[in-house]
Amino acid sequence: MSTNTAARAHVTNFIRNIIDTDLAGGKVKGVVTRFPPEPNGYLHIGHAKSICLNFGLARDYGGRCHMRFDDTNPVKEDTEYVDSILDSVKWLGFDWGEHLYYASDYFEKIYEFSEHLIKNGKAYVDSLSADETRELRGTLTEGGKESPYRTRSVDENLALFRRMRAGEFADGVHVLRAKIDMNSPNINMRDPVLWRIRHAHHHRTGDKWCIYPMYDFTHAISDAIENITHSICTLEFEDHRPLYDWAIENTPCRSSASRPHQYEFARLNLSYTMLSKRKLIELVETNLVDGWDDPRMPTLVGLRRRGYTPEGIRMFCDRIGVSKADSWIDVSVLEECIREDLEHRALRRIAVLDPLKLIIDNFPEGQSEECFAPNDQSRPELGKRIVPFAREIWIERDDFMENPPKGFFRLQPGGEVRLRYGYIVKCVSLDKDGAGNVTAVHCTYDPLTKSGSGTEQRKVKGAIHWLAAAHAQQFEVRLYDRLFTVEEPGTARDYKQDMNPHSKKIISGYGEAALVDAKPEERFQFERLGYFVADSKDSKPGKPVFNRTVGLKDSWAKEKAKG
Ligand code: ATP
Ligand code: MG
Repeated sequence: MSTNTAARAHVTNFIRNIIDTDLAGGKVKGVVTRFPPEPNGYLHIGHAKSICLNFGLARDYGGRCHMRFDDTNPVKEDTEYVDSILDSVKWLGFDWGEHLYYASDYFEKIYEFSEHLIKNGKAYVDSLSADETRELRGTLTEGGKESPYRTRSVDENLALFRRMRAGEFADGVHVLRAKIDMNSPNINMRDPVLWRIRHAHHHRTGDKWCIYPMYDFTHAISDAIENITHSICTLEFEDHRPLYDWAIENTPCRSSASRPHQYEFARLNLSYTMLSKRKLIELVETNLVDGWDDPRMPTLVGLRRRGYTPEGIRMFCDRIGVSKADSWIDVSVLEECIREDLEHRALRRIAVLDPLKLIIDNFPEGQSEECFAPNDQSRPELGKRIVPFAREIWIERDDFMENPPKGFFRLQPGGEVRLRYGYIVKCVSLDKDGAGNVTAVHCTYDPLTKSGSGTEQRKVKGAIHWLAAAHAQQFEVRLYDRLFTVEEPGTARDYKQDMNPHSKKIISGYGEAALVDAKPEERFQFERLGYFVADSKDSKPGKPVFNRTVGLKDSWAKEKAKG
């Protein structure tokens, strides 16, 4: 990781303030954080915020960050998700070293701690139906009522809990509940369920268990077992914190004198983007997108395929910071970070994506001439390459207008424009089809105006990009755009109605011949068009496929300003 990023990450936030105080006061000796995904989906840009925060704190304070799977729900979890999550965290640039853990490895310990709770009169087996449980739970304004099973004896509870584990009961017949307070104003403290029966195969423990511990309980104990110091989660867990503390204080789960504390920060909400795991799964399963790694998805595998860089995503996470106030971040902030990062990473190339033929009447047929284009204007040390100039060239259709408005400085009848790195040309006539559409533009070129020749005294206002037709190669280009057309998809109506019908457009474009050998994931700036990446799956040397990563400017801001 560049020191630059590390330095910028030192911008303080309330969590860093807490850590500084804890370290200064001797409350903790070092910093141990964790990133705890549930392997029930692919990671998305919201998770990146949490990853950068947790791994970033460990890095900056010389501590460590554990990679831990909170795999307590066998029905929704899968090793496919585990593998992809590990891959994405590594791709983002973080390393957990030897600290890879699974909550499922702690099931035996969590079970023991649960027997400990029972023996201390702090947990009981309840046998109400789901409906009855709901009725007794109470509401936000009214307290709950105690279950008739709450007074079971320790021995009866132990026997029943052991039989639950032994598989003697069907799903839902019993649960183990904490005995806390049915009248607590906090619903999470009204005797929360700790274990439930679920006869299901687990991706790691197989059929060993038919009872599974609940997330909140498991999470607190896992943190304590691993000696986590600062357990950072999103705001919706604020009301769960008393239960987190209860679990740690009432079980013998700590292996050292200090104990973990939970801190909450505001999750990332990104405009024009949907980050709900459940809905992302639905997008994939109903084929509204082409899989988890569809370049329009906010998943890290999707953003990667789109051409986003780990450095750009980390820059974004640094820039948005960490706070306790819920807010929306405009997706243009992310796009701008990607642009900023790619600017110094992607070589410049020329492509014409909506071609119009331009014929230079005074240039001899069958000949070509060398022009030179820099690989990156801002890095002259990267040199130049040859771009051949010839009689027939491609230009972008919208760089020509037959009846232009005032202030249009590109090509128009009778007008002049510079062919970038080449010559100044003048439009002398047009070819049209039967319907009146322009099929070719005829020009003459001024041989004294070659770029870099020293004889180019004349200047014109417009400069456009171009490709000699005989030297250009054709390939597939996928023009991706935002998946949603509204800032907060799915807020006012079903998110499916907010989808952008033009989020993917496949076209055939022309590019410099050398682009044909682009390697998968190789990135380029196509001059004046945007940043593109050779698709990691479908692009083959000799037959490239390019994905548009991001335009050179924020075109949506313009749309928005227009209203
Ligand atoms: P689920 O509803 O399945 O729990 P989740 O998005 O919380 O979904 P987890 O796998 O539990 O997914 O998330 C792992 C970590 O990433 C958690 O600590 C969670 O707080 C954090 N996280 C998830 N979404 C965001 C987000 N939008 N912004 C910041 N952090 C997030
Ligand atoms: Mg979660």
